[in-house]
Amino acid sequence: MTASSSSFIPSRSTADWQALDAAHYLHPFTDHAALARKGTRVITRAEGVYLYDSDGRQILDGMSGLWCVNLGYGRRELAEVAYRQMLELPYYNSFFQAAHPPAIELARLLVEVTPPQYTHVFFTGSGSEANDTVVRAVRRYWDVLGQPQRTVIISRKNAYHGSTMAGASLGGMAPMHAQGGLPIPGIVHIRQPYWYGEGGDLSPEEFGKVAARALEEKILEIGPDKVAAFIGEPIQGAGGVIIPPSTYWPEIQKIAQRYGILLVADEVICGFGRTGEWFGSQYFGIEADLMPIAKGMSSGYLPIGGVMVADRVARVLIEKGGDFNHGFTYSGHPAACAVACATINILRNEGIVDRVRSDIGPYLQQRWRELADHPLVGEARGVGLIGALELVKDKATRQGFADPGEIGTLCRDICISNGLVMRAVRDTMIIAPPLVMTRANVDELMDKARRSLDETLQKASQLAG
Ligand SMILES: *Cc1c(COP(=O)(O)O)cnc(C)c1O
Repeated sequence: MTASSSSFIPSRSTADWQALDAAHYLHPFTDHAALARKGTRVITRAEGVYLYDSDGRQILDGMSGLWCVNLGYGRRELAEVAYRQMLELPYYNSFFQAAHPPAIELARLLVEVTPPQYTHVFFTGSGSEANDTVVRAVRRYWDVLGQPQRTVIISRKNAYHGSTMAGASLGGMAPMHAQGGLPIPGIVHIRQPYWYGEGGDLSPEEFGKVAARALEEKILEIGPDKVAAFIGEPIQGAGGVIIPPSTYWPEIQKIAQRYGILLVADEVICGFGRTGEWFGSQYFGIEADLMPIAKGMSSGYLPIGGVMVADRVARVLIEKGGDFNHGFTYSGHPAACAVACATINILRNEGIVDRVRSDIGPYLQQRWRELADHPLVGEARGVGLIGALELVKDKATRQGFADPGEIGTLCRDICISNGLVMRAVRDTMIIAPPLVMTRANVDELMDKARRSLDETLQKASQLAG
């Protein structure tokens, strides 16, 4: 297998890869002029929790690729199940009265591992497509129920729900909205439950309620009969691992119930064990109606996503809805479904979610919080195998740096040179390592993180001086 697949992809020097990349390849979320000056980091292989670049350097992957390779790299079962499925049936659609065993089996498994209200799933190729599906399904639901005026979906500033037109509109990223005329009509945003950044003198519990009440204020402003749904990530991932205070989700849940709007929990990052529960909804006690999933669903080995649909929503769409005019060529791709089935089975058989909850998660969190004593770190927070460090100028006042993003980017680059992938969101450093980390891997991550923080502090004072 290795020899035949690699024969289509020649060996080249790092410099050659970088030159070809700069000549032809448009990357996601990238300033290409800056990239060409720095040169792409070419990752050629990976094993366990380690990446290897084209110069043979080993890098500990503190981000599970992009929040997805939860089982780590090099899992033979995942590769073999894809290989066998591709020989058996590499593709068929599920339009026109057709289906195939991997998609049906995956639907069954997902209903088994997700919270009890979910009885159905709609498959997509990604998290963004899942959120496009959410917008269409939510509006269709109200339409079928004879309330077509309920179209508005409320989301949050600094949320991330993907990069398609609807996904980017649901998201609350100002730089994304600034390009291409977004958000699309009927999507509005309220404040985020970001206590460290916006909580001021309030306790986290008080602030959580204040942030949640912004939902009620917005519903009343728009008119309750026009609001279709509220969408939120249980923990905002790309926004900087923003973990809401414990009071936030219960209050959101009450408000959604009070006005009869649908609740959507975007579980693309939190799903499949990241928090130590199977889903972030379970960690926070959220009972949602729709649940977009992707990323860890296949451990990133093949692209797949979906929307879990609660029984009360599914019944409306199925019993009264007739045709739902929506779907993708790759909805329920057989090989991707087979890999997702294998991923779920491995998570279960190896007790990986339990291990995140009771062993490796608590260990990582304990060690991560030790970093709070570092002069650069204003807060070290996290849950399970996800964490964030707030880099600040003044720990006492939580005051940040003059040029947001400068220190974060510096720290990220230093981490890489120390053999660690840690991502920067402005000046917040974030991690979401593979769920299969050992304690020794965690210790290595901490040593590299601390050394990188020390070097960042040193360089930052040189910059300031
Ligand atoms: C990554 C992400 C998405 C988008 O998923 P893609 O597969 O990149 O389209 C949506 N929601 C959340 C919470 C995400 O983190």
